[in-house]
Amino acid sequence: MKYPYLIIASLFVFSFGCNTNTTDSPENEKPVVVATTSIVADIAKNICSDFADVKSLMGPGVDPHLYKASHGDIELLTNADVVIYNGLHLEGKMSEILEKLKSSKTVIAVSDGVNDASIRTINEEADVHDPHIWFDVAIWSNGVRHVSESLKKKYPSHKDQIEKNTKTYLHAIDSVNKECIKLVESLAIEKRILITSHDAFEYFGRSYDFKVRGLQGISTLSESGLKDVTDMVNFIIDNKIKAVFVENSVPQKALRSVIDGCKAKGHDVTVGGELFSDALGADRTPEGTYLGMIYFNVETVINGLK
Ligand SMILES: [Zn+2]
Repeated sequence: MKYPYLIIASLFVFSFGCNTNTTDSPENEKPVVVATTSIVADIAKNICSDFADVKSLMGPGVDPHLYKASHGDIELLTNADVVIYNGLHLEGKMSEILEKLKSSKTVIAVSDGVNDASIRTINEEADVHDPHIWFDVAIWSNGVRHVSESLKKKYPSHKDQIEKNTKTYLHAIDSVNKECIKLVESLAIEKRILITSHDAFEYFGRSYDFKVRGLQGISTLSESGLKDVTDMVNFIIDNKIKAVFVENSVPQKALRSVIDGCKAKGHDVTVGGELFSDALGADRTPEGTYLGMIYFNVETVINGLK
């Protein structure tokens, strides 16, 4: 572990290893805050776990685009005091249940804290926006502030504690981002081309000045076709790219066929590493926290492309 703030952030998480779907926990007297993805849960774990029991529906490596709520999840959501989700249709198959819950409890979308102008529009007419907002830490920090304000309204007696925790968390996010910028600056601009399994890294690209290409679109719902693979192979060869990156929440098969396609045309491209895209890493590892995941991704990309 390279950074003291990762340790601080991890302490919150370590004391609340709660990726379980059971409702019978000894903390039952505490309010229950249920988050959809592990990335969203990291916000709650950091800002309200000292008075609430924070649970996450999706564990490490789970793809939120395809995730369907189980019976256990629905029970957990129904019994929750607060539900927090990413929004922008990231949890596409849970829209209906999330919408229903709004009539009976506090339901917070992190994306509601983000200014419309900073959200990437994919298809204006169809109202499709890029949901991977956690990869721009400035945008995500606004989402964190929104969650914090909503929790303060819901739990006014914990207002000061929430405020203090939020400040600490945002400060840690900012510190990690500064370290990431330093790392990025060590890689020549012409080498900053990031190729991944699906289009999750456009906000990352915008933040850190990378050209970004994903084999699949912004959702993993539609699979890549032969033409996508051929186009990607040509793009890699034309740009003399030496590494591509697989993702923890997406099967690697399609990107492997790109690597084989490059080889067949005499261009060697390797897997630069596995990035954490739509889910955090395992609990009790640095990548099991938002801060650790952000740093790990930048470090992996830079090392792979150098
Ligand atoms: Zn995604």
